[in-house]
Amino acid sequence: MAGIRPLVAGNWKMNGLGSALAELRALQVRLTRGPVIESDIMVCPPATLLSRARDTLGGTPILLGAQDCHPLPSGAHTGDISAEMLADAGASAVIVGHSERRTNHAETDGLVSAKAEAALRAHMTAIICVGETDEQRHRGATLEIVRGQLQGSLPPKARAADTVIAYEPVWAIGTGLTPTPEDVAEVHGLIRAELCGMLGQGDGSRTRILYGGSVKPENACDLLLIPEVNGALVGGASLKASDFYGILSIYAGTGAS
Ligand code: PEP
Repeated sequence: MAGIRPLVAGNWKMNGLGSALAELRALQVRLTRGPVIESDIMVCPPATLLSRARDTLGGTPILLGAQDCHPLPSGAHTGDISAEMLADAGASAVIVGHSERRTNHAETDGLVSAKAEAALRAHMTAIICVGETDEQRHRGATLEIVRGQLQGSLPPKARAADTVIAYEPVWAIGTGLTPTPEDVAEVHGLIRAELCGMLGQGDGSRTRILYGGSVKPENACDLLLIPEVNGALVGGASLKASDFYGILSIYAGTGAS
């Protein structure tokens, strides 16, 4: 839909020590020197870097996100971090339902929905990931899987202002493989139709739908300028300011910042 401001979010995963904050500073320098980027820009470092990243990014337009949260606000859950804690550390969004969480931690749609609900409770944006595996794709089940994950993972209180969907084919994450533009368009079209059905036309038509999976500067134009693609969730290519900026550049406007 015309008029949706894109979002490009970088998921650092379990990467980054204090020295990695230099990449945030380098990104900020590039953004200051280059043309205006007509998209929201977010970096999701590991939780250990959130508060330092907040201090580094203070006064810049780069948003800060986190990578996962516990559904509850506090309690006896050793090693877990609540949405409220992430917000307190500086995050304004949190990724939930990433396929690495669904696979490595056996997270179900119900748990993902509860985590997304926790993000909304903490006044953060929930970035909810969905996507099919290679096996599911090969048996022609992509649309059915994505529809089911979306229906099961979207909390009842979701609204366009605080919810983002990321379509991430599992087989495309970190592999260098990408779907065809036609396949991306088909899945994003399905997600848009489902969102309109679940949230109503108003919120459903305004909710951002990101594509994620091996997005790089070289393929960003082909993948992100497809109708109903409202930005990207970027893994590996978000770790280096130069690569991440190369992706952001596809949204360069005409004026100087
Ligand atoms: C991701 O893990 O969210 C992701 C999209 O990774 P990559 O860009 O490295 O494929």
